Amino acid sequence: MSEPLIFELSREGKRGYTFPECDVPESPLASLIGTRHLRREPAALPELAEIDVIRHFTRISRLNFCVDTHFYPLGSCTMKYNPKVNEKIAALVGFSQLHPLQPPQTVQGMLRLLFELEHLLCEITGMDAFTLQPAAGAHGELVGMMIARAYFARAGEPGRNIVLIPDSGHGTNPSSAALYGFEVQGLASDASGRVDVKQLGAALTPRVAALMLTNPNTLGLFEKDISSIAGLLHDNGSLFYCDGANLNALVGLAKPGDMGIDILHTNMHKTFSTPHGGGGPGAGPVGVKKKLAPFLPVPRVRRDDARGTYFFDGVGAGDSVGRVHAFYGNAGVLLKAYAYIRALGAEGLRQVALDAVLNANYLKELVSACFDIPYNSGPCMHEFVLSAARQKEHGVSALDIAKALIDRGFHPPTVYFPLIVKEALMIEPTETETKETLDTFARVLCEIAQAAEHSPGTLTNVTPHTTPVSRLDEVSAARKPVLTWCAESGREEKDSASGRQRR
Ligand SMILES: *Cc1c(COP(=O)(O)O)cnc(C)c1O
Repeated sequence: MSEPLIFELSREGKRGYTFPECDVPESPLASLIGTRHLRREPAALPELAEIDVIRHFTRISRLNFCVDTHFYPLGSCTMKYNPKVNEKIAALVGFSQLHPLQPPQTVQGMLRLLFELEHLLCEITGMDAFTLQPAAGAHGELVGMMIARAYFARAGEPGRNIVLIPDSGHGTNPSSAALYGFEVQGLASDASGRVDVKQLGAALTPRVAALMLTNPNTLGLFEKDISSIAGLLHDNGSLFYCDGANLNALVGLAKPGDMGIDILHTNMHKTFSTPHGGGGPGAGPVGVKKKLAPFLPVPRVRRDDARGTYFFDGVGAGDSVGRVHAFYGNAGVLLKAYAYIRALGAEGLRQVALDAVLNANYLKELVSACFDIPYNSGPCMHEFVLSAARQKEHGVSALDIAKALIDRGFHPPTVYFPLIVKEALMIEPTETETKETLDTFARVLCEIAQAAEHSPGTLTNVTPHTTPVSRLDEVSAARKPVLTWCAESGREEKDSASGRQRR
């Protein structure tokens, strides 16, 4: 990883391959191509030996920091190992070569699978019906807001335009609500890091459409008052939206639907076998209770029970919010989720949640002497949030610690989120890591904490040393990423190519 990344390898006159002289007459058809379409000058391609091309791309491919190479405790993202067999299943030609416009009678297997996945998700979450269309968690949130708006319009209450969101909420929550025209009102957390029920009660007016709550929340805490929260909302005629991205902590153990949730989004690309991050395809199915089912996007897959066949239903029907994705969603991601759920079964899924919570608590105990843990009144769920406030007194920030971890072979945790923790380091080990990995990570993290006190100069603004570029302009890297390189744009541009923290 430490060698400098040189992009401009081209040397004039070098050749990787030379074509033989053309020994057949030029086709008369060539004259049919207008001269303006014919190339007049050779293409400006890099000139170099074939082996150097191979080495260049292989070297770049190995710079990728991923779950398959390193521990990746990025809080809230559930970066767990996903069994490769699920990729193989999704790649079977019987699935991957389907065309979305094939007549339904020729794609019965795929329809059955989508139908069964919807019902498995209902079983797992306690919701009554799901749409599989949304492409991500944030997309699911938007669809949830569309459903809430449609529901209140139907109920003759279009004036309900406020969505309440706790200050520990994921950034996508207020964005999704605001994007769909709701007024966002924040709720401060109580001293334990949970929803302040009294404050919620005071905020409930006839204008409140919904509360958007993450459970377990982004501090890794279960919202213990969830039943009374649901009661308060329903007494006020409001809906209860749950951000279910943290389902990994509950799967197989507890059902959001039993907690009074009306609308729930889930992240297949966190909980059910697709890695999260990197901008790849995802799926954020949205589940609802019965009274909201008519508002779900269309088309929906249904079964003709008499014939035992599957079909698409309700194109543009009734109260539906309509289509929210081309065709039926990201089918490959849905397939992997289906394969994962079927392979693990109810017992296996339960074990996922138990081990995810056990690993997080084990790791929290190991590092608790080295860092402050602000909201720590008991065991956590699947993740926990450290504060580097103590280290910051010596000039070493959460960012410095994150960067120092890269040099030591670990992906950094999520930093500076949730916003209510100073110098936050949000750590989610997931169920797939071994005790040995957790032990090593804890030892390294505590060594960095010690270095922060005794030799802060080795950490402040200098790490990482082992990557092609060290400190990035993180804002430009996120807002104006340069993801390709071309000869004309020169060498500098490649430097800002990445560095985005995803949650
Ligand atoms: C990941 C996450 C989201 C957003 O999901 P995307 O698929 O990245 O859009 C929302 N809320 C929480 C709590 C999350 O962890």
